[in-house]
Amino acid sequence: MNTKKRAIWVFGDYRNYFQNRVTLQLLAKANDLAPKISAEVCAVLFGQGLDQYVAEYIAHGAQKVYVVEHRSLKNYSVEKYAVLLERLANDYQPETILVGATSFGKEFAPRVAKRLGTGLTADCIGLKITEDGLLLQIAPSFGGNLLAEIITPNHRPQMATVRPGTFQEIPHNNELRGEVVRLPIQKDLPEDRVRLIANERQAQRDQRIEDAPVVVCGGRGMGSKKKFKKLFDLADLMGGEVGGTRPVVYAGWLDTDALVGQAGKHIKPKILLSFGISGAIQHTAATTEADFIIAVNKNPNATMMKMADVAVVADASQFCTALIKGLKARIQA
Ligand SMILES: Cc1cc2nc3c(=O)[nH]c(=O)nc-3n(C[C@H](O)[C@H](O)[C@H](O)COP(=O)(O)OP(=O)(O)OC[C@H]3O[C@@H](n4cnc5c(N)ncnc54)[C@H](O)[C@@H]3O)c2cc1C
Repeated sequence: MNTKKRAIWVFGDYRNYFQNRVTLQLLAKANDLAPKISAEVCAVLFGQGLDQYVAEYIAHGAQKVYVVEHRSLKNYSVEKYAVLLERLANDYQPETILVGATSFGKEFAPRVAKRLGTGLTADCIGLKITEDGLLLQIAPSFGGNLLAEIITPNHRPQMATVRPGTFQEIPHNNELRGEVVRLPIQKDLPEDRVRLIANERQAQRDQRIEDAPVVVCGGRGMGSKKKFKKLFDLADLMGGEVGGTRPVVYAGWLDTDALVGQAGKHIKPKILLSFGISGAIQHTAATTEADFIIAVNKNPNATMMKMADVAVVADASQFCTALIKGLKARIQA
């Protein structure tokens, strides 16, 4: 079963397909890395009724797609999928396996790594590769105060989970061709220890914060939940999304899924407006790709103010109110 060609595998996490683009982003990155080591880019997919995803992954750069389809794999199953991926990896010996750091990926990838007796770098925000095929896995460490380059010198495959939004997907291209390898289901897969009772969809905002061209971010300096709400009005006026720091999420001013930072979302807006945020590394590590930063803080020496293209020394809430008023006046003029 062994294949001699080097391979970078991307685990196909297709749940919530239109919102969850991480597999496509990883395929793009794998296409960036693969030529340096003459490797092929493969996607690996488990489930039922997968044809549409197979076609999508090929159109986004998968040169080969391994598919295991069976009704018992229809619902994402950490136990079954981990054993399947372990066995496939043992059969085909990919050099690298990349998994999106989604809620499923974070649970699934470490189990696969343990079963394969290899290392795993969790929550990477960058990947590079040497000519020898050594994957440089860049991840925040020491509480986010450092960006570490982690390698797996002695074991294969090299495994990493990568934060959604870290890489740009390559545009869909129907001209691309790929090989599809369909594999039979194995009979001795473990039983699920968790029984899925129902799937419930939650309403999503129109736009994901990771893709928003304008992000209005608020921190503790906004002062209260009521004042924080003004940021949503500002974001609406600017066609943007609202994000925030950990204290405001902890205070219940903002949903967890809008947390920006090491423990949350990585953003890359054209304009980032930052209100009452000190600029701790755990937050700013996820804002470095913003094109233009406007920071408002009463402390001119705050790190966020130093990082900003425009730094406004003012009360964050009052400045937000003035900005909303000014923008409304312009729109109505
Ligand atoms: C392992 C770990 C992971 C973490 N992950 C994350 C993460 O993913 N995201 C994240 O954000 N944090 C994270 N943190 C927390 C992070 O270290 C900081 O504590 C947090 O980012 C600070 O948030 P803040 O800027 O809102 O609050 P503060 O640091 O308290 O800053 C408030 C700012 O508001 C200014 N201010 C106060 N009043 C006003 C006013 N009236 N008008 C204008 N400005 C005002 C102050 O001058 C100050 O600069 C993490 C920490 C750890 C240890």
